[in-house]
Amino acid sequence: MSDNRELVIVSLYPRDMNIYGDRGNVLALARRARSQGFEPRVVEVNPGDPLPEQIDIVLGGGGQDSGQGRVAEDLLLRADALRARADDGTPMLMICGLYQLFGHRFLTHDGAELTGIGVLDVETRGGDERMIGNIVVESDEFGEIIGFENHSGDTVLGPGSLPLGRVVSGAGNNPRDGVEGARTGNVIGSYLHGSLLPKNPAISDFLIGEAARRRYGSFEPVAGEDPTAARARAAAKSRPR
Ligand code: GLN
Repeated sequence: MSDNRELVIVSLYPRDMNIYGDRGNVLALARRARSQGFEPRVVEVNPGDPLPEQIDIVLGGGGQDSGQGRVAEDLLLRADALRARADDGTPMLMICGLYQLFGHRFLTHDGAELTGIGVLDVETRGGDERMIGNIVVESDEFGEIIGFENHSGDTVLGPGSLPLGRVVSGAGNNPRDGVEGARTGNVIGSYLHGSLLPKNPAISDFLIGEAARRRYGSFEPVAGEDPTAARARAAAKSRPR
């Protein structure tokens, strides 16, 4: 048994919402938490499963519209619980399909309306244009963020969320606004797959740091540079869209 301090990572809907390597976020976060001196415990929560009592970080991935349809009803049943945790500062990262469902609603291309839980002040419509390829975003807090986007959802931010960053190359939330993702408190939504966290350890450290401060009162980063991440970032950045 390790003496390291535990961090409970909830992986939300890994069965239905795990596309373009989003499960890699769970693996990368757990690994980074270990190198920051914590003992990660991953709890997978699929529709119908209980949420654990202790939750330190919540991760969610993307999926097809059909996958979003399968989880949307279950997510609504958890809306109050997740909103309370978000209001309380629990760090969360939601990618693509779950980013859309953490907003107010997603109006699909077929005219269906999926109601979201409104943790992020965003609204999404299925558009005619597919936004696909490697994407580079500049953010004040995390520096340059690099990932891969593939969505036709067109997302617009309301005043209750800030963008995650400014698009340097790629589309981001939509083809017009020049911004990517959303942030309300410690909840981040983003279109970036790839997976995101293996290429962006600064975001892992944010999630771990906020979680550790809430649960244990302090966080001293010890993990340092990640040379594999640096190589992956350079490779993704050099590839044309
Ligand atoms: N179905 C959504 C869209 O295309 C989400 C896609 C995804 O998660 N990659 O906008």
